[in-house]
Amino acid sequence: MKHITFIFTVAALICSCGRNIVSDIIPEPSEIHMAGGYFHLPDTLETGCPDSSFLSLDKAFKALVPDTEFRLNVSDKGSLTIMKQDGIAEGGYRMKVSRRGILIEAADYGGAVSATATLGQMVSDGRIPCCTIQDSPRFGWRGFMLDVSRHFFSKEEVMDLLETMASYKFNRFHWHLTDDQGWRIEIRKYPELTDNGAWRDPLAHNHDIICARIAESMEDPSYVLDHSKIVIRDGKEVYGGFYSQEDIREIVAYAGALGIEVVPEIDMPGHSLKVVESYPELSCGGVARWGKDFSVPLCPGNDGLLQFAKDVYSEIFSLFPFGYVHIGADEVEQTHWKTCPKCQARIKSEGLADENGLQAWFVKEMQGFFAANGKKLIGWDEIVSGGAPSEATVMWWRGWRPDTRATAVENGHELIVSSSEFLYLGGEQDRNSLMKVYNWDPVADGLAGLEDKVLGIQAHLWAETVPTFANACNRIFPRLFAVSELAWSDPAQKDAGHFNRRVLLHLRKLEEKGMNYRIPDLSGFCDVNVFADSVRIDVEKPFEDMTVRYTADGTIPRSSSPIYDSPLTISSNTTLHFRPYTSDGMPGDIFRAEYRKTSYMEPCMETDTDALKSGLKADWYEFRGEACDSITHVPFNGSYVTEGVYIPEEVKGNIGLVFTGYINIPEDGIYSFYTYSDDGSYIRINGEMIVDSDGPHSRMERSGQAALKKGLHAFEARYFDHSGGILEAGFIMPDGRRRLFEAGDFLHTEGQSKTSPEI
Ligand SMILES: [Zn+2]
Repeated sequence: MKHITFIFTVAALICSCGRNIVSDIIPEPSEIHMAGGYFHLPDTLETGCPDSSFLSLDKAFKALVPDTEFRLNVSDKGSLTIMKQDGIAEGGYRMKVSRRGILIEAADYGGAVSATATLGQMVSDGRIPCCTIQDSPRFGWRGFMLDVSRHFFSKEEVMDLLETMASYKFNRFHWHLTDDQGWRIEIRKYPELTDNGAWRDPLAHNHDIICARIAESMEDPSYVLDHSKIVIRDGKEVYGGFYSQEDIREIVAYAGALGIEVVPEIDMPGHSLKVVESYPELSCGGVARWGKDFSVPLCPGNDGLLQFAKDVYSEIFSLFPFGYVHIGADEVEQTHWKTCPKCQARIKSEGLADENGLQAWFVKEMQGFFAANGKKLIGWDEIVSGGAPSEATVMWWRGWRPDTRATAVENGHELIVSSSEFLYLGGEQDRNSLMKVYNWDPVADGLAGLEDKVLGIQAHLWAETVPTFANACNRIFPRLFAVSELAWSDPAQKDAGHFNRRVLLHLRKLEEKGMNYRIPDLSGFCDVNVFADSVRIDVEKPFEDMTVRYTADGTIPRSSSPIYDSPLTISSNTTLHFRPYTSDGMPGDIFRAEYRKTSYMEPCMETDTDALKSGLKADWYEFRGEACDSITHVPFNGSYVTEGVYIPEEVKGNIGLVFTGYINIPEDGIYSFYTYSDDGSYIRINGEMIVDSDGPHSRMERSGQAALKKGLHAFEARYFDHSGGILEAGFIMPDGRRRLFEAGDFLHTEGQSKTSPEI
């Protein structure tokens, strides 16, 4: 791998006006004061560790501060001394770095690992800047979940992930070990779970077929099924793998040394096709198949299932020392239970209301078994609706069911916030996805006043279309940095600009370690660009030395396409595609930039007149359709005047908005506009489509340009949404900054469009 050096030192520590000195550390520490000078790391650092329970820190030092060797002694003397200290918030630490040595005082083992992570991030060129730090976490539960069922990740990959988690102060690893697509943990009493359930024919498996198609059409090696996970069985190539109990013990011990508790998830009674395939008698119909929405579940009417579940969890309890174990209990296809005589008999004998009650009964039975074995049960938030016992911990994921959070807390459950909207890291990324996570507050709305029942937050990676570790890392980073800040740092310290600068530094650190990440956006162009005679295209790269390839024939850039290394000049209509590559040759997103030759639009009016009023006229319609042009064909709710293009608080439900007026252009020029919306939006100027983001979609930015002469131009923006959307719109400034439309940008004629009823 290409070696990259970058400055990660006190030189990069900046003092932003009116704030304490801030660091390059992620997550941002509570308090850091720089003292000047450096501690120079020797080849071997004598480390005093008076508390013998801290001795497994040697593994954390090796993983998080690889620049030097630490020799740990049970003593209070050393160039580095690390000790347990009362009076520090749980999970927190204090650190003092001087020219002579380093003193770390930690509340507990987790705090000592977090201090080590900070130390590791501060080393540069073999030295650490002198400073004092006081630091403690916002939340005690700082989790990340990896799905190893849909695609399998090796022991070594899991360990790499754990190291990276520890360096960003995550302390819970939720391991989604079983699902319909693969059973990944050896259970000695039921060997067929892995003998059969860990392997599949990739040529017949939907997820693998999709990945192969993307790998080919997008020339993306991160979608090529990992060959190390393909073996020959009975003369046939099969894909998969599983962890032996020995592997599990090794990983759990390593996680423990890194201050990470491991939460295993064995998903029941749904998501269990692999159980049904091997032990069909445990399901209602005895056939492994798909139901209306989900796979055929296990049969809670069958006493054999309870025995199976207890046997499996008993082996799980012996492998995972942490107090919490996850039972899943999500997305259960209850239709099968309706026609199963055993399930119906159970509903009757237990006096349950219906199939929902049967699901709750199963969870309750298991919760009792967990408790008798000294374990706490965690379930996905579906367990709330069934009335799960309050001792169960709820993992809230359904972003579209925000009410479940408060209900869970009111019912006495502990809550882990893992919103599908903000903390599921598998979804597509764009230039706004990192800030979407960073700017969110996990307890801001719906949980205000209930924070003490929130254990913390957790991000997730589901792996249906994530066939390699490189692909996983592309989804996880840099968004996991934002999750790290949400989980650890004081939200009052948020500073998007400072965070974005740190992200670039940390992406380079990942690259040095050979880990993949999503390459930040290229910039310097819109989706649609215009020019009069010719245009010079100057693409801005996130890293100066980054390879960018491009095409001008409408095809996607491939590894054989020309390298973009200097500005391009074009003078006719052209569509360019750009694609950045990491130093390991992993491709980033593809950026499409259309260039249209055009002439300057004449204004409708040269200057303001008395007949015009400030702002835009907005018409609000009761709209359920899926295209902006249809908005005006439905019932009209009312009009209002607005300074910008956004959704006022009063406007709710099935929204269709039409903004009309004139945009005030101060001088001749080519102007760039954008919308950021969920769902569709567009901007037309003088009737011409400038920004087209129409159609139903999740949050998306689209941009376009117009060549405009000084004066007033007819402006129209449209937007629709069905379920809690977002709308931002404005100019893209020459420096790339987005500037929302504001007072002074627009004028409108009274009575220009619909005039009543007023809102
Ligand atoms: Zn049944």
